[in-house]
Amino acid sequence: MSALDSSLADAKHAPNGLAALSALADGSGDTVVAAISAVARPLGSGGFQSATGEDLYIAEPARVTFGARTSDLGVSVSRTALMGALSTAAGVGAPGGVEVVWQSAVRHFEVVQGEEGVLKVDVQLETAGVTQMVRGVDVLVGADGLWSGVRSAVDEVTGRVPTPRTYGGLMWWRGSVSYSAVEARCADIGRLSWAQAWLPRGASLGYIRLGGDDLAWFASAPRPADAPVEGGSPLAEFLAEFGPDRGTTPPVYAAVVAELASRGEAADCIYRGPIYSRGVPSGPGWGVGPVTLVGDAAHAIFPSMGQGACVGIEDAVELAACLAAAWRSQPLVGAAAAASRGTVPAALRAFEAARAPRVTRMGVESARVYHLSALTAAPGIWLRDTAYSMLPQWVVDRQFSWLFSYKATVVA
Ligand SMILES: Cc1cc2nc3c(=O)[nH]c(=O)nc-3n(C[C@H](O)[C@H](O)[C@H](O)COP(=O)(O)OP(=O)(O)OC[C@H]3O[C@@H](n4cnc5c(N)ncnc54)[C@H](O)[C@@H]3O)c2cc1C
Repeated sequence: MSALDSSLADAKHAPNGLAALSALADGSGDTVVAAISAVARPLGSGGFQSATGEDLYIAEPARVTFGARTSDLGVSVSRTALMGALSTAAGVGAPGGVEVVWQSAVRHFEVVQGEEGVLKVDVQLETAGVTQMVRGVDVLVGADGLWSGVRSAVDEVTGRVPTPRTYGGLMWWRGSVSYSAVEARCADIGRLSWAQAWLPRGASLGYIRLGGDDLAWFASAPRPADAPVEGGSPLAEFLAEFGPDRGTTPPVYAAVVAELASRGEAADCIYRGPIYSRGVPSGPGWGVGPVTLVGDAAHAIFPSMGQGACVGIEDAVELAACLAAAWRSQPLVGAAAAASRGTVPAALRAFEAARAPRVTRMGVESARVYHLSALTAAPGIWLRDTAYSMLPQWVVDRQFSWLFSYKATVVA
């Protein structure tokens, strides 16, 4: 069995994001997982380290005990490669495939009675500065992220109180760098496929190997959300915070910093910004009528557990399963439409109710780990680091078994 074949076999039981995609019907799930695996890297050993680079908690594939015992921790893949694989699988731009209208934003919507009394949506879109109404839409899914316009429109239509966004107190810098260039500076980078060091002043530095020669890196440090960029550029600011002058960066991470410093302006493609979380909407559901939300639009979580996109993918698959079941039992055309009155809204409310407990728990756990990584008081840091270094791996793993034992609903 080739390496790809073996990773595919594992992916059937893989951690949650891939497990959700595997559940797509007619073999399409396997095709999508194969396409992602081809541009991804199987996740190897990785975990959290102290400010001196000492291992505190390392998840090793051979020893993981998430849910059913499995040596599969999933894969790491860049956002660009993931989007490429997903859009190819969906046939974006191909005849008969998904049609995408770029530069188009939902501004407003109205739930209306369609023919035979079936609820529909009239959607106001703004495309390249031109406003237009698209009438009689069957389902509107707000998948528009943390600043979701669809969610704001639902808040407006229903009159519910908007859930606030929470700033976690940390500014983030992130980007990618050549793995082999960093390895040439410090061979120890190859020991772990991902790691995050918790630094003394509430800061952290981390990296994760992706497909090809890509090494994604990320760093965080306490700042007000609206803090201006210091030193003239995100790179200068990053180097002032994590460069050799601070003297607190363990060697592997220092190699990443040194590589970025050596690239100078070429490395200045750094995403710098505050990171927020946002809980699910208040009230009985996330949407209204034939309108719903998925992903960050419904529940943005702190990135401390690398789960935001994974639970968004879970949402998409579970939503597809709910809609497929509703439409299969009562097609929304002709005479049957009258009988199906309310079917789509009911399917969407069922989807939201089924997802809310899991994504809420995910948000709580992610916030816990997020704030743990940002401790500044010495006694708290000592307690955290001692606890993590002394606890057996299986005890820490058990905290996450509920997350990885997720079984996706098969989309038939
Ligand atoms: C530093 C960091 C690290 C992370 N690491 C991981 C990780 O390792 N693993 C993981 O699973 N997740 C991770 N995440 C989380 C992940 O990036 C998000 O959860 C994920 O991108 C959410 O996907 P989404 O499609 O719901 O929203 P988004 O990715 O935000 O996409 C929303 C899209 O909607 C578009 N849009 C916005 N407004 C409108 C509108 N009005 N009309 C139409 N379109 C609109 C936007 O342009 C955008 O393309 C991380 C996040 C951060 C910040």
